[in-house]
Amino acid sequence: MKIVLAQPRGFCAGVVRAIEIVERALEKYGPPVYVRHEIVHNRHVVESLKAKGARFIEELREAPPGALTIFSAHGVSRKVEDEARLMALPTIDATCPLVTKVHNESRRYVAQGRILVVIGHAGHPEIEGTLGQIEGKAHLVQNEQDVDGLAIAPDAPVAYVTQTTLSVDDTRGVIAALNRRFSDIQGPETRNICYATQHRQTAVRELARVADVIVVVGARNSSNSTRLREIGEQAGLPSYLVADGGEIDPQWFRGVNVVGVTAGASAPEVLVDDVVEALKRIAPSDVSVLDGPEESVSFRLPAELAL
Ligand code: SF4
Repeated sequence: MKIVLAQPRGFCAGVVRAIEIVERALEKYGPPVYVRHEIVHNRHVVESLKAKGARFIEELREAPPGALTIFSAHGVSRKVEDEARLMALPTIDATCPLVTKVHNESRRYVAQGRILVVIGHAGHPEIEGTLGQIEGKAHLVQNEQDVDGLAIAPDAPVAYVTQTTLSVDDTRGVIAALNRRFSDIQGPETRNICYATQHRQTAVRELARVADVIVVVGARNSSNSTRLREIGEQAGLPSYLVADGGEIDPQWFRGVNVVGVTAGASAPEVLVDDVVEALKRIAPSDVSVLDGPEESVSFRLPAELAL
């Protein structure tokens, strides 16, 4: 059996920054440091930060008075920011700068008097944050049918933004439907899709050309990991999402010559290694890496944590 790894795969710059923020806050201020929501959607990452003294909470009221609290990479609504101010909690914002860019664009459109349509997954923390960053109501659409159901006049001034973890392909149909439905519509000049999402999705398509089976390393609640698995499936290959090597089922690889392995943006490389080792226990395997772009993106840390 051959194992082929996608390039790029795994951690993106936003995830690296968010984890570094928690680690540096722990070093600088000492444990415990409170983190609202999973800092990134990966249990391994969360557990290793817990071991260093991070405490994960879902609501700010779970933090004791005055406790340093970090907002996760997915971003938060204004309501959460206001709540932190009211509680006088010192906070550090680990929102990915690409998500912050979407918040800024959303506010700019609303300030121009446009009705905002947000393309994304209902209930995802990034979407809750984006919807909660603007004054008044924004409309969430998840697919082309939702566009038909929008209670907005066809000639009303409308603008759209998209969840960062949807690719150009994911949003193409919805954006086309919006353009058909509304005569005065604007969207961001370059789509809100982040470079990491686009690169990982392109890489899994390349992987599907050479593999018989696709294994995606990532958490079930990770939107971008789930999407990578779906792309493998759409390419016609059996595709599995696993948290680590312990979830590998030898039955999946009967008669398989080439296993393609990739990882979502919140999955650390140590879990890819774990999956590769599990595959090697099923059959002795050569490991190679597919050609793909090297990423050099990095984001600055918040000023209080910069060296
Ligand atoms: Fe930021 Fe993209 Fe990573 Fe999300 S996937 S944290 S938007 S770099």
